Amino acid sequence: MSHVLVTGANRGLGLEFVRQLLGRGERVVATCRHPGRALPLNRLAGEFPGRLMVLPLVLPEARSIAELVRELETLDVRLRLLVNNAGLMLDGERFGTIGLDGLRQAFETNAAGPLLLTQALAPRFDAGARIVMLSSRLGSIAGTTALHTPSYAISKAALNMAGRLLAAELGARGLVVVVLSPGWVRTDMGGASAPLAAADSVSSMLRVVDGLAASDNGRFLSHDGGAIDW
Ligand code: NAP
Repeated sequence: MSHVLVTGANRGLGLEFVRQLLGRGERVVATCRHPGRALPLNRLAGEFPGRLMVLPLVLPEARSIAELVRELETLDVRLRLLVNNAGLMLDGERFGTIGLDGLRQAFETNAAGPLLLTQALAPRFDAGARIVMLSSRLGSIAGTTALHTPSYAISKAALNMAGRLLAAELGARGLVVVVLSPGWVRTDMGGASAPLAAADSVSSMLRVVDGLAASDNGRFLSHDGGAIDW
């Protein structure tokens, strides 16, 4: 049966994706690092019996990815949409103190994780499936004029390339891969002064996903559907 899979689904934009997708009648696989502690997800599983599966996934751990894929195979879950949402931003980076640990952690979670997960899930995609890479304008090389959040910006630029590579590979099979920026959104990552509510960002992104055509494969789009320069 066809499902939507959302990573990093226990809070923020991921949780809001799950809420809205369930509200639209979808069957959802929500992944998070600690399902036992994901109270809002477990509450939603109770509200939508049989339509929400909450499974563990820690990116980019090979064993965790393999266990998820095995579970989906066992349950014969096929995917019509994958939302690579999980991501992290390190606080307090300044020029002079940028460190290898932070760069590595950001790259592994924000770029390697979504690439490796998508590769592992490739056999489970429906014909015409959509794959969304949740990136950021901070990953736009063209738009960068100041040294802000370097490990995050570099990892999102790498994610953008991963999106293009996946688009080239999977587009040939009729799938559509897009890189989407959610805007600046009030979540733990975005902070309280962000102008956009998660509900508005997600409903806007889902409208973009609904409207995707084959010709959109490999594009970098804003939550409102506008093109972003790489
Ligand atoms: P958030 O509130 O910080 O939530 C991040 C989610 O990612 C959490 O569920 C977190 O799980 C999960 N995660 C982090 N590292 C992980 C790992 N190694 N393995 C598995 N899951 C992991 O962030 P958000 O604002 O919802 O952002 C969602 C996506 O949108 C991210 O990719 C972010 O870069 C992007 N984005 C956000 C904004 C914004 O303004 N909010 C702007 C541009 C782009 P835990 O709870 O276990 O930590």
